[in-house]
Amino acid sequence: MAKHKSPPVSISLNGTQRTKTGRWGVMRPLFKQKTSACSTRCPGEIHIPEFIQRVQDGDIEKAWRVILEDNPLPRITGRVCFHPCEESCIRQNYDQHVSIHSLERFVGDWAFEKGLNPLEGPSPNDKRVAVVGTGPAGIGCAFYLLRRGYRVSLFEAMPEMGGLLRYGIPEYRLPKRIVSEELEMVLGSATEISKGLTVGQDLSWNELQAQYQGIFLGIGAQRPIKLELDEDNHEGVVDGLAFLQTGGEKVSFDPDQTVLIIGGGNTALDVARTVLRRKGMPLVLYRRTREEMPAFEDQIQEAEAEGIEIRFLVSPRAIIREGGRIKGLECIKNRMSGAGADGRREFAPLENSAFFVPGDLIITALGQSAEVSSLPPAVMVKEETVVVAPDSCCGPQGIYAGGDVIDMPRSVIHALASGKQAALAIDLYLWNKEKYRPDVKKETSDVTIEEINLAYFEKVPREQPSILSAEKRTSSFEEVNGTLSRDAALRESSRCFGCGNCNTCGNCYFFCPDFAVHRDAKTLKVFIDEDYCKGCCVCVEECPRGVLSAEVKK
Ligand code: FAD
Repeated sequence: MAKHKSPPVSISLNGTQRTKTGRWGVMRPLFKQKTSACSTRCPGEIHIPEFIQRVQDGDIEKAWRVILEDNPLPRITGRVCFHPCEESCIRQNYDQHVSIHSLERFVGDWAFEKGLNPLEGPSPNDKRVAVVGTGPAGIGCAFYLLRRGYRVSLFEAMPEMGGLLRYGIPEYRLPKRIVSEELEMVLGSATEISKGLTVGQDLSWNELQAQYQGIFLGIGAQRPIKLELDEDNHEGVVDGLAFLQTGGEKVSFDPDQTVLIIGGGNTALDVARTVLRRKGMPLVLYRRTREEMPAFEDQIQEAEAEGIEIRFLVSPRAIIREGGRIKGLECIKNRMSGAGADGRREFAPLENSAFFVPGDLIITALGQSAEVSSLPPAVMVKEETVVVAPDSCCGPQGIYAGGDVIDMPRSVIHALASGKQAALAIDLYLWNKEKYRPDVKKETSDVTIEEINLAYFEKVPREQPSILSAEKRTSSFEEVNGTLSRDAALRESSRCFGCGNCNTCGNCYFFCPDFAVHRDAKTLKVFIDEDYCKGCCVCVEECPRGVLSAEVKK
């Protein structure tokens, strides 16, 4: 057999470090700032993937602290927020969206049970701020001021704090006990609270301005919009919000009497579901179609599940009475027409379509406007809302506003977010006499499903919190939805893709064929050594959560 002779090869006697192969590549992986669709859509801008990651790690306290940076009331929002975050969760393109709402509630309930203190650590200062109104806007503002060490005094016209959280949203969705517990927890014992005191009546605005360096107006919008009918006699017609204030206790109707509810918002559905629990027969009349209903989608679904009838494209025209007693409503039918000035689809009455709807009681839920007439004259007002500058200031120096009283979507998380923004603005104003400039949103893109490495995620159905049967819920005011157990919350958290949120899984480090990804031994944070990265971008491929992107080198 011929003796095989290898050709000569050159052997390097030095290490490979001197050959900076990174220069050969045309591509490079980048930690590019990206955001998750859930956080982008959250009006409170909560760092959702980050808090869910902490739940996954089993560090629930840290999860709660992440939420607190933007939302002081996770027990409450975990129950009543309309959770646009879930609608935009990209996992729904794979199996089902993550139960972000239920995770937030779990974290909030857990922190309360552990007796944690959300106000730890501020160094107090002697500056005093008055917060008028204790709905979510006022509480949001007070909390972020307390965290910065201000002396905050709260003023509330009602006997108890909470605004619509207590006097609007019914017990079966948000127990009053939870409202009391969470407000006490976030305000701490040092806050001065004056209840049953209406600023502008019991205490003048001038006095308030003289005593405080900053004022926040979180007075909400609770004045009912009246029903306009062909007649003036509205006797026996009840306002929906007044009805809800006492959970329907002060309005009497016999079992099985029909209660006609006019409106299509949250108030209308809350009234209908309360009537049902008080053994009446609710019938909701709404002038547009289901698609245009301003009520939150999950509220519509829950009302439908309880068997509440909603008649669409119906407008009331006259109250029909017999011997002084209400017999029903004369109504007309509507048809939908084109979009109005506000972009919302308009409706028009159908000629000769009058018909009679029998009923024994009428409750109106046509929306609310703000009571702005008694505000200080320098406060800017337009169409019954307070006008605010981008820094939340509403005219006079040192006076800020937020929540339902200003022109913005009416929801708990919007109110909380506006309260927080005002607190930051007040802080800046009181220390530097500078104007607060809201963050200019950086040009970032949300991680898409194409950027997620789905091989790392099994298809798993979402965890559902317990829910009372429709039968059981309509016979009591017991809370309809339950809180996830710890095990269920941990399982649910592991379904989160963690879009754009590096959890130091190490995939980029392990898969790099060039050893060009380095990890900080302590923090496990990774960085790419461009001298040796040839740009194969395996790390980008293997990143489960779209943190890395491949880019052409310039
Ligand atoms: P409010 O909650 O109205 O609080 C204002 C407070 O200011 C009140 O307590 C009032 O007594 C006090 N006040 C007013 N004037 C004075 C004064 N001069 N002096 C002292 N105190 C004063 N949103 C959701 O996100 N999810 C829901 O499920 C939901 N359901 C709803 C159900 C109903 C029936 C209604 C009506 C609304 C619902 N909303 C919901 C909307 C949400 O409740 C409001 O957007 C939110 O409460 C607004 O917060 P706010 O602090 O601006 O005002």
